[in-house]
Amino acid sequence: RLCPAALMPHMPQRPFRSIASVLIRRTIVLAVLCMLLVFGVQSWLLRAQHQKQFEMAINDVANTSVPLLAVALWDIETQAIAAQLQRIAQKPEIGYARLQAAGGQRFEAGNPALLAQGVSRQIVIPPPQPAQGAPALGVLELTGNPDYLWQGLRAEGLRILLGYSLLTAGICALMAFMLKQLLQKPLSTVAEFANDVCPRHLTTPLRLNRPPQAHSDEIDQLETGVIKLQTALQQHIHNLDDLVAERTEQLERLLEEIRHLSVTDGLTGTFNRRALQDRLPAEIDRSQRYGRALSVIFMDIDHFKQFNDTHGHALGDEVLRNAASHVSASLRHGVDWVARYGGEEFVVVLPETELDAAMATAQRLCRSLPEQPLESARMARPAGGSVPPLSISASFGVTAYRAGENTSALLARADALVYEAKSRGRQQVVGRA
Ligand code: GH3
Ligand code: MG
Ligand code: MG
Repeated sequence: RLCPAALMPHMPQRPFRSIASVLIRRTIVLAVLCMLLVFGVQSWLLRAQHQKQFEMAINDVANTSVPLLAVALWDIETQAIAAQLQRIAQKPEIGYARLQAAGGQRFEAGNPALLAQGVSRQIVIPPPQPAQGAPALGVLELTGNPDYLWQGLRAEGLRILLGYSLLTAGICALMAFMLKQLLQKPLSTVAEFANDVCPRHLTTPLRLNRPPQAHSDEIDQLETGVIKLQTALQQHIHNLDDLVAERTEQLERLLEEIRHLSVTDGLTGTFNRRALQDRLPAEIDRSQRYGRALSVIFMDIDHFKQFNDTHGHALGDEVLRNAASHVSASLRHGVDWVARYGGEEFVVVLPETELDAAMATAQRLCRSLPEQPLESARMARPAGGSVPPLSISASFGVTAYRAGENTSALLARADALVYEAKSRGRQQVVGRA
């Protein structure tokens, strides 16, 4: 019996990747996508928050620093103006501050390069005691500090990255553990079992050895399914074995019947000529090997053609059957045997029998044969009436095996002796060594 692998058609080989590892990879990809989404939303919120903070810082400057700047401008205290601007530019939200005085002077603090990239707001500086129609003292231009936003974004990004990485790693580790326990182990056991299944393994049932749980799940259903399949296969194979045994027995019976038919004569039930050709050489061999005697009797029914013509062929057949069974019954059981040689000719083989004994047997047969009543006559007799025997006689040629001769020579001599008996007047035995 072959294992399924040997019976399988060629399947393309694909690299193996376990379900758990695929799920974990997908979880990581999902986590990265979530992380990017959250980072995007957070950046947008942070940007809005920074914008708000910048506006608040501008309000703060307008409320606190602008009045002081107005006084300093009014008093033309350039040092105080520069110090005030310096203080303004030091606010984290503001990267560059520039004051354009009405008198033409210009003051600045911070990084002037930010002018090109940052957001700017202008505040008009009114006189310290605003009077009706008094002109403004100057314009203060404030530019936002993008680095402040970037730093915030970096910190936030790092926080999100770290948080999500830790969370993802934790979830993946937990998932990997659970997947291994709940899914991968039982599934690979089932896969190995299914891969290895073949008739001689069917008696070992699939065992997943899972810890007991309150509910059954898909793995339990799979286990039950495989066990059912295994049992059904086992049953099927068992049935097949029984069927094969039964068919083998039938075949052996038929073969025996055919063997029997091939060596048996259909009409009389004795051995046929073919069996004689097979068995007689074996008897000759035995006789030669052990130096034992062997004799044959050739028997030919007398005037059988005439009998057929007078009584019909069917009765002729019955005579043949009758004669054959009478001859068989008169021989030594299990030692001597008889074969139908031709139409109404029989050969009796007598192993371990000298010519005299064979002659005596032939004489007995020659005397008794005509006395045998036919079965049909027996059936047809009137109640209590005697059965008239159908007078059938036969001529016999008897001879003994001569060392070294073959089957044909032995049979030809016996046949010639029958011919002699016929020519001497029939219903007699002629024997010669
Ligand atoms: P003889 O005494 O010289 O042997 O004469 P015979 O008529 O017996 O010999 P012959 O060889 O002339 O005829 C044999 C006859 O046997 C011819 C045939 O009709 C008959 N016979 C051969 N086989 C069968 C058979 O199977 N059934 C019947 N009913 N008759 C058969
Ligand atoms: Mg004949
Ligand atoms: Mg004859």
